[in-house]
Amino acid sequence: MPIVTKEDYLRSLRELGSVIYLNGERIADITTHPAFTPHINAAAKTYELALRPESEDLATAISHLTGQRINRFTHIHQSVEDLIKKVQLLRLIAHETGSCFQRCVGWDAMNATYMTTYEIDEKHGTNYHQRFIEYLKKIQSENLMLVGGMTDPKGDRSLPPAEQPDPDLFTHVVERRNDGIVIRGAKAHQTGGANSHEILIMPTQAMRKEDADWAVVAAIPLNAPGVVQIFGRQTNDERRLTSRLDSGNPDYGLVGGETLIVFDNVFVPWERVFMLGENEFAGLLVERFATLHRQNYGGCKGGVSDILIGACSLATEYQGISKASHVKEKLAEMIHLAETIYSGSVACSVMGSKTKSGAYYPDPLLANCTKHNVTRHVYEIARLAHDVAGGILATMPSEKDLRSGEVGNYVEKYMAGIKGVSTENRLRILRLIENMTSGTALVESMHGAGSPQTQKVMYGRLGKLDMKKKMAAKLVGIDS
Ligand code: SF4
Ligand code: FE
Repeated sequence: MPIVTKEDYLRSLRELGSVIYLNGERIADITTHPAFTPHINAAAKTYELALRPESEDLATAISHLTGQRINRFTHIHQSVEDLIKKVQLLRLIAHETGSCFQRCVGWDAMNATYMTTYEIDEKHGTNYHQRFIEYLKKIQSENLMLVGGMTDPKGDRSLPPAEQPDPDLFTHVVERRNDGIVIRGAKAHQTGGANSHEILIMPTQAMRKEDADWAVVAAIPLNAPGVVQIFGRQTNDERRLTSRLDSGNPDYGLVGGETLIVFDNVFVPWERVFMLGENEFAGLLVERFATLHRQNYGGCKGGVSDILIGACSLATEYQGISKASHVKEKLAEMIHLAETIYSGSVACSVMGSKTKSGAYYPDPLLANCTKHNVTRHVYEIARLAHDVAGGILATMPSEKDLRSGEVGNYVEKYMAGIKGVSTENRLRILRLIENMTSGTALVESMHGAGSPQTQKVMYGRLGKLDMKKKMAAKLVGIDS
């Protein structure tokens, strides 16, 4: 049965029964656990928006494989228009969640694998692409959510996979059998891992010939024997257990709900293996996945920033300072920064091109610049948010104090803003700002889709310095 509604999605997660640990304990049902439900609600929006007539055009697409209408998060981009719709969709969903909704990572992994398997087959005469198409048809028809599993733990970063004292610090093949392969290792920081159905593992970096056993792409159900997930902590996450108000964004959480996904000798049948040992394609696959994910960041973070700007504007109204010229100026600056990152995502999509497989791919240099801008602009937006919201962000009393029979009246009286706005509403909006500018949210903007240094490496590769030197030399008559 395909997943159509949010209820279908929740049921599918219960039936899947992935092995997930939090605080040292196995969680029997994540769909009813407050540490997980905000992330699940956010991911569920990718299903819900597909059912709304007003967002159907963005949230669904026509499969080029079957001609059926499918959820866009399972679609292979067939045009520049598809690339632009992707970015618009991400901003739209972020407006509903104010947080990461996780499903883009698997989507990007699918598109990168689709493009790259075509080219591996072209060179090696393998049949990975057709295998992947068959797998993709299942994902599209069942409307499954995938994790894009790229980041390996990496151990000693100065050593390649085959030279690590512990070879499992990069995910690798430990056995080749007649019916498939056995995988060991782990993927770290896996956005949406707990509430996805499958993981598509990919190499984490370019691989040498000696690292061929680490050059593996494979799809693994998250309830397969030997797959164990350990859920990561986030800033103020225990507040979710005690107070909706103090949580800030109680229904949708903070960022993606990341897990460490361990593969303890996991068997994968051949029909789910899409690269095995073609090490020279690992770098290309990583670059494509990274570009496709970096394309997104002006969409989702642009949308999240819109919520933060709205929250700051309300906070300044509630505090009676919205007419101050410096406040207007700071809000205008926040809007400028949010639209700047969004325009980067649109630009790299507009400048996208067709790969040999037929799938469309954003301009990689512009996509990297977009993500790099996010590592800066989101911090600056947060700095301005802290500036206009005031020091109360760091000191306000809890919801329990607000509701206390003994001190609630003091909180009500002394935390009040302008007449006509309740103290509770003032605290709600300030808690939302606190949540959206907290440590975990900012770190995600810095390192999600790759740390800024990985974008700088791409400038060296794609920045056409030789051409630029020639243009400068020609202008002043230097032969070069
Ligand atoms: Fe999607 Fe943005 Fe979350 Fe990445 S950070 S999974 S692009 S919402
Ligand atoms: Fe991310």
